[in-house]
Amino acid sequence: MIPFVTNKSDYIRELANAKPQAIAQIRGSAKYRGIHGKVLFYQTNRGVVVVAEVEGLPISPNTCGSSVFAFHIHEGNSCSGNGDMPFPETKGHYNPNDCPHPEHAGDLPPLFGNNGYAFMAVLTNRFTIRNVVGRTIIIHAQSDDFRTQPSGDSGEKIACGEIVSVSAQ
Ligand SMILES: [Zn+2]
Repeated sequence: MIPFVTNKSDYIRELANAKPQAIAQIRGSAKYRGIHGKVLFYQTNRGVVVVAEVEGLPISPNTCGSSVFAFHIHEGNSCSGNGDMPFPETKGHYNPNDCPHPEHAGDLPPLFGNNGYAFMAVLTNRFTIRNVVGRTIIIHAQSDDFRTQPSGDSGEKIACGEIVSVSAQ
């Protein structure tokens, strides 16, 4: 199903009226209980539009402290397991083509925290919604250096969401 088809630069306008085909509700780990938000997925003719809105991200006391949080779709299917090493069942980055990071299909731009709030939208043709329903999306404690293998040196998993199709909700 393609909710909007655009061959011009109409994504901003189309998005206002489109319905997402999949959604992930984001919850923080035991150590980061304040994090919550959602990620919406829209299938288009050029790829999937991913829209993220998250609150409660860590706020650094330093002006130049970290407010950039790596953001990836992981291959695993569950956000369970929330101990010292949160969300182990999310496994690694979704990478069906055996590419290096940051060419994994599940690699996304990081979230920029704004006093704990982040909003991000991106178009990616590395997967379809069908590919990622049943997988997970993870926010990490640190930025993504887009170089270190296998996951950009992005630190611990601080929040997780399971990607479900909207019709299945
Ligand atoms: Zn990756």
